[in-house]
Amino acid sequence: MWWYPTGTRGPGYRLLVAIAIGFVLGLVVGFSLLGVPEAARTDAAAWFKALGDIFVRLIRIVIPPLIFFTIATATASIADLRRLGLVLLWMLVLYIGTSALAAFWGVLAGQLFQPGVGVGLKPPAGYTPPKPPSAIDILMSFFQVDFSALLTVGGAMTMIIFAIILGVAVVLLGGEGRRVYSLLKLASDLMIRIVGIIMYYAPVAIFGYAAWLIATYGPQMLGAYGKFLVSQYSLTLMHFFVIYSIIVVAGGLNPLRYFKYQSTPFVIAFTTRSSAVTLPYNMEAARRMGIPEEVFQITVPIGATVNMDGTALYQALSALFVAQLFGISLTPAQVGLVVVAAVVGSVATAAIPGGGTIMLAYVLGVVGLPLEGVGIMMVVDPIADAMRTAINASGDNACSVLITRLVGLRLRSSS
Ligand code: ASP
Repeated sequence: MWWYPTGTRGPGYRLLVAIAIGFVLGLVVGFSLLGVPEAARTDAAAWFKALGDIFVRLIRIVIPPLIFFTIATATASIADLRRLGLVLLWMLVLYIGTSALAAFWGVLAGQLFQPGVGVGLKPPAGYTPPKPPSAIDILMSFFQVDFSALLTVGGAMTMIIFAIILGVAVVLLGGEGRRVYSLLKLASDLMIRIVGIIMYYAPVAIFGYAAWLIATYGPQMLGAYGKFLVSQYSLTLMHFFVIYSIIVVAGGLNPLRYFKYQSTPFVIAFTTRSSAVTLPYNMEAARRMGIPEEVFQITVPIGATVNMDGTALYQALSALFVAQLFGISLTPAQVGLVVVAAVVGSVATAAIPGGGTIMLAYVLGVVGLPLEGVGIMMVVDPIADAMRTAINASGDNACSVLITRLVGLRLRSSS
């Protein structure tokens, strides 16, 4: 099909063009729907959303085996267990450090823009506040009770831990382990191929989601929530352009190359609002940036689950926003607690649409803010989620560039 963007791994370098066209067309259709009577607009929007949901459901089927096989393969491929330890150590330092910085930007945005002062919002009708999880609940959710739970969204962290242990066991098996390694590698390549096939549909899904997003949430963007979104978007984009540039330069990569390759996962994350769904695209971008497989096959799938700078920023800003809405003033110690809680909350957030707003209950609960805030934030969640997910995914690759240098490896010349 000469007219379709193909490549060896499914849609190749022209995928970005097709996705960009889908995105822009979706925005145009979405905005033109704003002039249509509400009933017809809701109807049309539901169809556009279905176009996107088909894609997300297909990808979600392949995510658990993809995470499992890529992490196990990458771990098993690092024969030097000391280097594996170094990769994991630097990964944790950078993931937590960047998320803490992002949470700080969230607090700063709340102070600078004061988006909740004088807005006076109400939770949606029929909403009952959720019970926030405790710190123990969050810790134990990383260790699921049985095997079947590994395949659920909440089981991702247990799956990662199990995949790393399996990879280490393969290394310890020595020569015998090479046979297991070949099988794992084959399975991981197979999963990537499956994603490559589903990728052909991505531009249509992106079109559908963009049209739905604007047709459904466009009016709120102009209304009372506008100020919140402007403060969230501006600080989040600053983190993306300034902080990630500094990180990739420190890692020895030209930031323009980083932004070029990151643009495809950025748009996929923005429209699907799921880091898990974006994972295969993020790994392909990491490969193109020249990050070695033994690094990105560990750091990027783990990052999709634990490293969410966009969510940390959003949760910190939301906490301040909710406090302002209810006229509650926070002490400096409470503001510090917001930053810490937002980092923990972002790590525990599931990489699915809306995961960060569900986990916001934890952040609000820690500081003692009204849990109705979760309902208030749900009103514009898809728009806030689009931007935070795009940055969640982008942070994994920026950090992986620097991790490569910190563990003494080199970036390959990128393609
Ligand atoms: N949707 C986000 C993600 O998948 C999580 C969130 O809701 O903050 O990265």
